Amino acid sequence: MIDALDIKITRAPGSKLSEVPIEKMMFGKNFSDHMFVADYIDGHWTNLEVKPYQPVMISPACSAIHYGQSIFEGIKAFRNLDTDEVKIFRPLENFRRFNNSARRMSMPDVPEEIFMEGMKRLIQVDKEWAPAKLDYSLYIRPFMFATDAFIGVKPSSTYKFIIILSPTGPYYPKPLRIFVEEKYVRAVEGGVGFAKNAGNYGAAMYPTAEAQRNGYDQVLWTDACEHKYVQECGTMNVFFLFGNTAVTPPLDSGTILAGVTRMSVIELLHEMGVEVEERNLSIQEVKDRYKKGELTEVFGTGTAAAILMVAELSDKELTMKFDEGKWKIAPEVKKKLDAIRQGSGEDKYGWLYNVD
Ligand SMILES: *Cc1c(COP(=O)(O)O)cnc(C)c1O
Repeated sequence: MIDALDIKITRAPGSKLSEVPIEKMMFGKNFSDHMFVADYIDGHWTNLEVKPYQPVMISPACSAIHYGQSIFEGIKAFRNLDTDEVKIFRPLENFRRFNNSARRMSMPDVPEEIFMEGMKRLIQVDKEWAPAKLDYSLYIRPFMFATDAFIGVKPSSTYKFIIILSPTGPYYPKPLRIFVEEKYVRAVEGGVGFAKNAGNYGAAMYPTAEAQRNGYDQVLWTDACEHKYVQECGTMNVFFLFGNTAVTPPLDSGTILAGVTRMSVIELLHEMGVEVEERNLSIQEVKDRYKKGELTEVFGTGTAAAILMVAELSDKELTMKFDEGKWKIAPEVKKKLDAIRQGSGEDKYGWLYNVD
């Protein structure tokens, strides 16, 4: 494709890559040498640049800090260990979701070519940061925030769109202990649960910390009206397997983040001949069918870990335990998804996006 965009490229004088040995690559802690930046001013995007990773100057009155117009995405790129190519997993889905979040937060859309071409150029410049090791990846964090220096409550007229990259090691999958949250809520119908806006995550920290003090890893959110129906978990969507049928909450209420991994897992389950029902699922049904021995597997899906098995699910009256050693479906889906993401399996759905 001929590049119609005027993206300035300013290279860092040297690389910090040698300071980050592969065994020290931790999710979200180390960042590559460059970042992509664009400014929204006077109704359009300008100053597109790949430049050395550096702090961002903002006014103390920066409206994102005061009122939370701030959204993000999480995407992964993988280096194919046979061909050495670096490919991104389904970034166009993240692009669409990013603009859904933007609209809900009264922020401007980022045009597809700025989002995609900015990401591609940045990864081309920092390609060496995509680790050449199985189960490693390059985490991509696009984000946008309001930059007006004005503390009146109204949508900002200026924004920054930035992409940073973080090389990431394997996520050692410890099966999760999950607490069914029936006091605090994450999302309500008509609210912002479907958006990846910063405030959703800050608001989840207190209930999550409380569950962690009691020995759990995460909470499973329930609906805000009755605390009856399952929503999702941390930064993961959830699936419940009853024999050969997988049930996952539907997206239509707007209280659930439409995970790209969720969408991909649904497709892989279909391919495996597993029935998938996107429907409301009550905690009561989960417990009743657990007691009858019908609930066979529970897992979470998200970009960070792909698929995480649930070892224990507790509400105030019942602890449900699962032995993932006996599971068939979740491990098979994980194997398939990992193979596609890492390039060792056939990409039959065209999910990988080439950076070169
Ligand atoms: C990002 C996220 C997910 C998972 O989405 P993926 O696109 O699969 O990474 C699920 N729930 C919440 C709340 C999230 O923020």
